[in-house]
Amino acid sequence: MTKKDYYETLGIDRNADKQQIKKAYRKLALKYHPDKNQDKGAESKFKEISEAYAVLSDDQKRQMYDQYGHAGIDQQFSQEDIFRGANFGDIFRGMGFDFEDIFSSFFGGRGFSQRDRRFRGSDLRYDIEITLEEAYNGLKKEIQFPRSEICDTCHGTGAKPGTQPKTCPTCQGTGQMKQSRRTAFGIFTQVGVCTKCNGAGRVIEKVCPRCEGLGRIRAIKTIDISIPKGIDDGTQLRLHGEGESGQGGNGDLYVVVHLRKHPVFRRRGDDLFMVKEISFPEATLGSKVDIKTINGETGTLKIPEGAQYGDIFKLKRKGMPSIRGSSYGDLYIEIHIKTPVRLSKTAKKLLEKFKEEI
Ligand SMILES: [Zn+2]
Ligand SMILES: [Zn+2]
Repeated sequence: MTKKDYYETLGIDRNADKQQIKKAYRKLALKYHPDKNQDKGAESKFKEISEAYAVLSDDQKRQMYDQYGHAGIDQQFSQEDIFRGANFGDIFRGMGFDFEDIFSSFFGGRGFSQRDRRFRGSDLRYDIEITLEEAYNGLKKEIQFPRSEICDTCHGTGAKPGTQPKTCPTCQGTGQMKQSRRTAFGIFTQVGVCTKCNGAGRVIEKVCPRCEGLGRIRAIKTIDISIPKGIDDGTQLRLHGEGESGQGGNGDLYVVVHLRKHPVFRRRGDDLFMVKEISFPEATLGSKVDIKTINGETGTLKIPEGAQYGDIFKLKRKGMPSIRGSSYGDLYIEIHIKTPVRLSKTAKKLLEKFKEEI
């Protein structure tokens, strides 16, 4: 099987810069992505262009390829290594398909990025409910959540204090075992996890009594989070490295912010909406009414003569702050007119007179 030249595969010049490589790959990826292209061979074409991109977008691999051709790459890197080095997420973001699904099919159903993350701790999710006022002002809050942390007795080794874990005899401490696997794209040699030590590279003979050899314990973590002003319902804040501990580092913590329903205001984007009830004479004669805005101030709304039920007025910049900048949304006020009830005799008389008059 002779492999096509990577530059040729992407249809680019040998001197193409990173932007040109990216552009060429994106275009071809859109054409051959198996979600878009049902043709036989589209998938292997997609893999071909993806491999070319993975190599050419990486300075070190590209240099090796330029110098030694395919042999230089194939001897140095496994298929997984080639793909793992490239930032496909960046390419496919916003294109509407999941790149992990498709790449995992290159490797017989196991996603390379899952493998990458194997030794990292899990991500965690924390849901928090805040009021609209808090979203307006932004807030700092202390939150507590359970997560796994490095055991403080054995400092993560899992071995009883005073003893040391031993190098795994099966993998000689590498934590890896080579396995060949047959897939639709040929045979891939994969580096798998050592089954004796589960990839740790070490075996523990006397386990730590606190964590029972896991190297990790459950703990309650307390952190201060800062929620930016203008935040909207459903926004996720990612706190890097605040998730579960793992041998390859911590996962992330995702704080999902929910807004409590407000008794007065409804929100749409940065704008707020509310209903204001006014009296019949106020609507008829026109008036000035006080509006309590979200920041607690009192704004004045001018109602013109002859305002109708359902008319909407706007107070500029009295909505929510924009999370992106210094601008504010507007406050829209819908007028409802109260029909007077339980009128006094005099009021009734006046109203009768009013009726005759108009
Ligand atoms: Zn321990
Ligand atoms: Zn091992």
